Amino acid sequence: MTDTDRMVAWLRETMDSAERDAEAATPGPWAPEGALGADVVTSALLGRVADCSVGTDYRPQSIPDAAHIARHDPAAVLRRIAADRKQHDEHIPVPDHGRFSHSYGEKCPALCEGECRDNPKVCLTCRDSSGDPIEAPCRSLEFLVEAWGWTEEEQR
Ligand SMILES: [Zn+2]
Ligand SMILES: [Zn+2]
Repeated sequence: MTDTDRMVAWLRETMDSAERDAEAATPGPWAPEGALGADVVTSALLGRVADCSVGTDYRPQSIPDAAHIARHDPAAVLRRIAADRKQHDEHIPVPDHGRFSHSYGEKCPALCEGECRDNPKVCLTCRDSSGDPIEAPCRSLEFLVEAWGWTEEEQR
């Protein structure tokens, strides 16, 4: 498994795990509300989800924390994961079959004699100005894994 393959496997596992968390969480929409300021997050369906006030003392961060949690409710997270999966699907590394790499995707065509294995994988869709595939990971895939928290340490 190459570093790029490991990176893509990590991204898929991380998105799957975030999706499971979001599906298991209380359905939304979530909104901040509360008697002493909007420091409690409630679900329109099921009531209180999180109380960002801690004890009875005034806590300056409680309102921004509640706003932040509500903005990242399960529906919002699932929407972003669905969009990121589309981005992932467009920029997966595939065997290098030159300009036909997009047509063959992750599978080798019957006529492939293994020459693709002598080259690094390429992006499914990214091409240079002469139409040749770009070595994977392309910048779009790098930005995506960066957004999900991929670091060099994850490679080990
Ligand atoms: Zn790409
Ligand atoms: Zn091949």
